[in-house]
Amino acid sequence: MDLKSIVRDIPNFPQPDIVFRDITTLLKNPRALRYTVDTMGDRCGELAPDYVLGMESRGFLFGVPLACQLGAGFIPVRKSGKLPAPVYSIEYELEYGTDRLEIHQDAIEPGSRVLIVDDLIATGGTAAATAQLVQQAGGETIGFGFIVELAALGGREKLPSVPIISLVEY
Ligand code: IMP
Repeated sequence: MDLKSIVRDIPNFPQPDIVFRDITTLLKNPRALRYTVDTMGDRCGELAPDYVLGMESRGFLFGVPLACQLGAGFIPVRKSGKLPAPVYSIEYELEYGTDRLEIHQDAIEPGSRVLIVDDLIATGGTAAATAQLVQQAGGETIGFGFIVELAALGGREKLPSVPIISLVEY
């Protein structure tokens, strides 16, 4: 299935000269949504994660169905101040500014295999920061899954050398 034709391009969002890749058009398409989760499941299955971990908020949209597909649990990484129990916290650079992500300190049992999932990788700052949180929490990042990869930005070079799976490349 040609997912690229289903992801919508929004020019000049959130600022001039940026083309935003909008996955809401993929989410609302029942066949494309099923295909995305199935294909990601097929390609990540042999990594055998204990947990799929998704970043707020679009990482949740794909991370939970993928976790179900793989028979894994799901761990949310959230923006600052949202998680109720003690957290590890990291500040990181975004494509459009800086932000902070947090994980529950007790979210990952030592040595658990964690697959990090987000809708899109651009500069790689979000995913690299998330991998640091996983390490801090005692887990092992065994792979990354993205629906969309903005390959020209070289984000994957910021990530640890584990399998990095993306379904659509720009
Ligand atoms: P990075 O940290 O530069 O790799 O940016 C990735 C993060 O920003 C992800 O959490 C994405 O959801 C979000 N993001 C950046 N650009 C886009 C876009 O064009 N479409 C959708 N999300 C984006």
